[in-house]
Amino acid sequence: MKGGNDMKIKMKTPLVEMDGDEMTRVIWSKIKEILLEPYIDLKTVYFDLGLKKRDESNDMITVEAAEATEKYGVAVKCATITPNQQRVKEYDLKQMWKSPNGTIRAILDGTVFRSPILLDCIRPTVSTWKKPITIARHAYGDIYKNVEMLIDVPGKVYMTFEPADGDQSKAQRELVHDFADGGVAMGMHNLDKSIRSFAHSCFKYALATQQTLWFSTKDTISKKYDRRFMDIFQEIFDLEYKADFEKNEIEYFYTLIDDAIARIIRSKGGIIWACKNYDGDVMSDMVATAFGSLAMMTSVLVSPKGVFEYEAAHGTVTRHYYKYLKGESTSTNPMATIFAWSGALRKRAELDGIKELETFADNLESACINTIEAGIMTKDLELIADLTEKRVVTTEDFLHAVAGRLK
Ligand code: NAP
Ligand code: MG
Repeated sequence: MKGGNDMKIKMKTPLVEMDGDEMTRVIWSKIKEILLEPYIDLKTVYFDLGLKKRDESNDMITVEAAEATEKYGVAVKCATITPNQQRVKEYDLKQMWKSPNGTIRAILDGTVFRSPILLDCIRPTVSTWKKPITIARHAYGDIYKNVEMLIDVPGKVYMTFEPADGDQSKAQRELVHDFADGGVAMGMHNLDKSIRSFAHSCFKYALATQQTLWFSTKDTISKKYDRRFMDIFQEIFDLEYKADFEKNEIEYFYTLIDDAIARIIRSKGGIIWACKNYDGDVMSDMVATAFGSLAMMTSVLVSPKGVFEYEAAHGTVTRHYYKYLKGESTSTNPMATIFAWSGALRKRAELDGIKELETFADNLESACINTIEAGIMTKDLELIADLTEKRVVTTEDFLHAVAGRLK
């Protein structure tokens, strides 16, 4: 399959490519060089979301990348640094720019689905789990769009609503707390429109993948905020999806988040678990670790308009990057980043009707899995892989071993 330019698989519509930071940026270019460019006449619209470029462009590059994703339909993103105080110093930033994923999600809306890559030789920590558990994370609002206050003198914090038309009968004012001393306060919001599209994405994804859908919140404590999520899901399900779920013999049910956690541990997997933004952030890390490794978790943002953005669920693997900078070779796992590319290429192939590209994406994933099953793996998998013969290799050697199985 590898060959000169005319032998390479041709693309029609470009992918939106978002480059990133640190170790994953290094891996990104190696994946392209070793696993993609020799086989595909790769067409991408490139955005450099590396922290330096975000700072130079006052973060406009992130907005442009999200807009291009809406235009072209499919994107693939490298992990990026979300700056904190320490990063502001390290990169001499003009300001503490917001999380690029947060910015992109706020523009595209939609839902993030995270599923682990399963291998025969890696047994989940939870012994009952036989199939992947997909976490559907709502990608808008809550604490990711909050406003916060530090209180250091006595006083009252109120939450007020002022109707745009000035109709005072619709005005609202609630005392959050009467502070006698220092403390903290926070305000957050969500939108019916976004919750609705979250629900639609989840019901559609459940039908497309033939899996039962769970949704959980803390409605017993949050009687208006979380209750609103619960009611919107139920209303949309009853009106638009109930019959199809019955036909496909899959279920939708709502339960309290505490109950969902107890049930998930006892389940066999093969479930989509819809979570609010923060719950999804945290639970996906728990599920990924229990399935083996954060490095084996894939992630896709599906917008209500049907736009797809693929990425790895892990970060930029800073600790490995600092070793790399010292000239040491690292054994960082590139699986989730490769699967972000294969996922995006497969979706592009589906949309553009390019059978060869779809087959390539499947072959690439099989080659990765076969490489690990054959005992060649990165260091993170060594402890958890149940194989008698294991060879720990560097990232680059792993990529070459995969390429060897692609030919
Ligand atoms: P991280 O990059 O996910 O890494 C945390 C640890 O998990 C690593 O030190 C490593 O453990 C292990 N790990 C993660 N991915 C791995 C891989 N592919 N191969 C092998 N081991 C892997 O999280 P972090 O260190 O908390 O965050 C680093 C930066 O990433 C931060 O600046 C953060 O803002 C950013 N981040 C970005 C995204 C995103 O863009 N989606 C998501 C999360 C975090 P050992 O060191 O023990 O080997
Ligand atoms: Mg997280």
